[in-house]
Amino acid sequence: MRIKAQVAMVMNLDKCIGCHTCSVTCKNTWTNRPGTEYMWYNNVETRPGPGYPKAWEDTGKYKGGWVLKNGKLTLRAGGPITKLANLFYNPNMADLNDFYEPWTYDYEHLINSPKKKHLPVARPKSMITGEFIDKPEWGPNWDDDLAGGSEIVPLDPNVQKLQEHIAMEYEKTFMMYLPRICEHCLNPSCVASCPSGALYKREEDGIVLVDQEACRGWRFCMNGCPYHKVYYNWNTHKAEKCNFCYPRTEAGLATICSETCVGRLRYIGVVLYDADRVKSAASVENLQDLYESQLSVFLDPMDPKVIEEARKAGINDAWIDAAQRSPVYKLAMKWKVALPLHPEYRTLPMVWYVPPLSPIMNHIEEEDLQTDHYIPAVDHMRIPMEYLASLLTAGDTNVIRRVLLKMTAMRVHMRNKAIGGMDELKHS
Ligand code: SF4
Ligand code: SF4
Repeated sequence: MRIKAQVAMVMNLDKCIGCHTCSVTCKNTWTNRPGTEYMWYNNVETRPGPGYPKAWEDTGKYKGGWVLKNGKLTLRAGGPITKLANLFYNPNMADLNDFYEPWTYDYEHLINSPKKKHLPVARPKSMITGEFIDKPEWGPNWDDDLAGGSEIVPLDPNVQKLQEHIAMEYEKTFMMYLPRICEHCLNPSCVASCPSGALYKREEDGIVLVDQEACRGWRFCMNGCPYHKVYYNWNTHKAEKCNFCYPRTEAGLATICSETCVGRLRYIGVVLYDADRVKSAASVENLQDLYESQLSVFLDPMDPKVIEEARKAGINDAWIDAAQRSPVYKLAMKWKVALPLHPEYRTLPMVWYVPPLSPIMNHIEEEDLQTDHYIPAVDHMRIPMEYLASLLTAGDTNVIRRVLLKMTAMRVHMRNKAIGGMDELKHS
């Protein structure tokens, strides 16, 4: 056993309201410099939607992460020959159009415009070329801010029928928010894909960083990361990425995205894992077994044997204590209500998600609160279970169903308690 400590995060998607405060505070802290305008270390995607960069989950287009070949993990980004060919042009790499051309507004015109009949307009202006843009056509949050509803083709000229059809179609629609940062993976393919050895995983806390001195701007990491969370700074010609706010965490503070999260949905904690199990856990052939196998690398921080081994491995008592109190350990490993994003990428991501439940509650009637009648609600959820499974369990709907049942039961229990509490108050 080779015990290591890792910082990790759980996000409860039920609570995300898509306010983007996390993205803005992260940007103000880390990416408000020339060359970083298009970068969002933290972004919040409206799902289902193409995300940022556009269609980042399309592994056919971008070819990132690990694949299993003859039982061995191989970088999907290609071997050394492909790397050389890619030196000059890599057609599989996301370019600025896939991210977006960042723009600002012509505020000068807005502020200094002389008095006129009509209000002055601040036109969008490219932050890279300084040119005016007629109409921005894509952005990191397009679906949320500027996309429209889907077009519905009339099936019948009868207006009433058409209205019914529209109502039916819109009844089927669903959306959710997915906040994303670098996953600080246990098996990071960005690190493996860097020819200069500039990307590394910190021994003490598992944070994945880019050594700016060593980076030669090869950009294999941009493709190597299947989550597309490494960016190229066009000003410094170096790669950069989310650093889990290490200057803050080293001082005992939460990451800026967690501290400023309006929904209070980001839980940070330490987990202990067996580094010797990582490669085999990532190499499990059957997709349905991936979630359980990835779960098996984590160790119980209360187990005296684990504590003893952790001390022998040089992990100090403060870190062991943090692991024992860790909400990440409890939510993801003990209670199993948080799940990894795309476990099939085989990088063993360390940002886990509690799947969203809210729409289900429409199907919980008042009387259900007095009984254990919450099971039918799970079968009437608005976000299709298959969709959540494609994000969080490599397609296994059974795991999603189990988590949602647990969350529903907990919510019913808490409401029951609240109602009981109200009754007691009334009668007192
Ligand atoms: Fe590397 Fe982060 Fe991508 Fe994982 S999510 S491969 S640690 S950049
Ligand atoms: Fe969601 Fe919190 Fe970010 Fe707002 S600040 S978008 S609630 S994760």
